Amino acid sequence: MAVPIKIFCLSDSHGDIPTTTGGMTWDACLHAGDFCSAAMRGGVGRKLGQFKRWADNFGPPVLAVRGNHDAGAGLQVLATSIKDVTGEIVQVTPSLLVAGLGWTGANFFDLPGEAELQAACNALFDKAQPMILPGNSFVLLTHYPGDFGGLFPFTGDRTGFVFKCVRDLTERLRPLVVIQGHVHGHFMSQGTYEWSLGSTLVVNPGPDGGTLLVNVEEKTVSFVMWT
Ligand SMILES: [Zn+2]
Repeated sequence: MAVPIKIFCLSDSHGDIPTTTGGMTWDACLHAGDFCSAAMRGGVGRKLGQFKRWADNFGPPVLAVRGNHDAGAGLQVLATSIKDVTGEIVQVTPSLLVAGLGWTGANFFDLPGEAELQAACNALFDKAQPMILPGNSFVLLTHYPGDFGGLFPFTGDRTGFVFKCVRDLTERLRPLVVIQGHVHGHFMSQGTYEWSLGSTLVVNPGPDGGTLLVNVEEKTVSFVMWT
């Protein structure tokens, strides 16, 4: 039986570092955005230093998408410690590809609307389309969550928090798994989104993160939270 690919996934750490990474050998790290915090935009604080050291020592590259907090001085300092995959399709292995969806406005409290994120979704899908082949599998790494109906409870105005365009991108791209962040109330949850033509695992890892196991031959995934 093939050895699964081991990926450490987390999100919304805002300069904090995970409690543990389990002391195992990882194939990749995926961060679903908001690795900086608003305070880091104007300067480099202690928290940014600790996150930078953590990312530098992780082992394999820390692949990350940008959230609403990820800009300015913090992003510049982390430029050599993380690989920004916002708007990119990146190989983890020859047949496992990460599609990165992020967005950052002028201020951390600026959030995208459907139209703004739709443009990013369309551009990302256009890049991915030539690589949608029978032998390839995708991970959709997105700071902004899809509006997956009742899969994760959300009350109030969904504008800027959960997005129909991310759900539509999921249905078009058909990733094995969606790793998403941003909505803190959803941390440490996962569920399977099913639609008429398929299904996909959706994970909200949060800052402590967890382990994603991917079997590329069988095209199966599982996710285990740390806590
Ligand atoms: Zn956010």
